[in-house]
Amino acid sequence: MPVGHMIKFIVTYQTAFWKDKGFSGEIVAGSSTECPFCVTFDATTPRGNAALVGFIAGQQASQWTTKEARERKHAVVSALVKYLGPEAASFIHYEDKDWAVEEFSGGCPTNVMAPGLLTYYQPSLRKPCGRIHWAGTETATQWCGYMSGAVQAGQRAAVEVLSELRPAVLTREELHTLRHSQSEETRAQQTPSSALKRLTTAVVVTAALTVAAALCLTHAERVMLKVTTFFSNAL
Ligand SMILES: Cc1cc2nc3c(=O)[nH]c(=O)nc-3n(C[C@H](O)[C@H](O)[C@H](O)COP(=O)(O)OP(=O)(O)OC[C@H]3O[C@@H](n4cnc5c(N)ncnc54)[C@H](O)[C@@H]3O)c2cc1C
Repeated sequence: MPVGHMIKFIVTYQTAFWKDKGFSGEIVAGSSTECPFCVTFDATTPRGNAALVGFIAGQQASQWTTKEARERKHAVVSALVKYLGPEAASFIHYEDKDWAVEEFSGGCPTNVMAPGLLTYYQPSLRKPCGRIHWAGTETATQWCGYMSGAVQAGQRAAVEVLSELRPAVLTREELHTLRHSQSEETRAQQTPSSALKRLTTAVVVTAALTVAAALCLTHAERVMLKVTTFFSNAL
């Protein structure tokens, strides 16, 4: 699973001027080539230090990773001015981080599953392997790839282990959640491989019936020919 590519930036301001203008600070710019980032959020701290955080992701990241940091900063601030007004140019500090060039991260924020991987291997994602239980964010059913997903997956794995070692310590709610996720797993295991099996069986049966029908027709034609010849000879 290759890791994603994301460049994160944070721009700090004296005031959250966008709020005064009735804006939330959230810009969803899509993958336009004119705008380097795809999304920004208001990252003002609870103490009121005004900031915007944004992401240059995927294709945009591949494009902007090769550019000079100064050029990237200029492009980001120009886009902020375009969306939020001229005040966006008067920032205190701009900082960006290209996580793909970090030796021990190699990308951000998570690994990306190639097409088909989840469809065919999803049943194995959370299935314990003997005494090994999987707790990574990749195994989460919600917020997969994020911190919240990591917490959810960690809690699920902890309950799994406790149910093996000391089931008595589990609450009724935890046992219920565990049984529910296990039954979901069983249902997931029936797809798509079982669907594929059903489809294969249907195709084989249809093919066999077609061949049988063709043979019958050929045979019937021969019989009809014999009958016709018999009667025409008799007459
Ligand atoms: C640059 C970056 C920015 C991110 N930003 C955000 C964000 O803003 N918001 C958000 O929600 N998520 C963000 N994420 C994603 C988030 O960090 C991960 O989803 C989360 O940390 C995954 O948690 P985890 O417990 O599944 O795995 P990890 O945090 O990767 O923990 C796995 C641990 O296992 C250890 N380990 C690995 N192999 C072994 C071994 N053989 N033996 C012992 N230990 C081992 C590792 O050292 C590591 O400490 C970001 C990720 C990155 C890389």
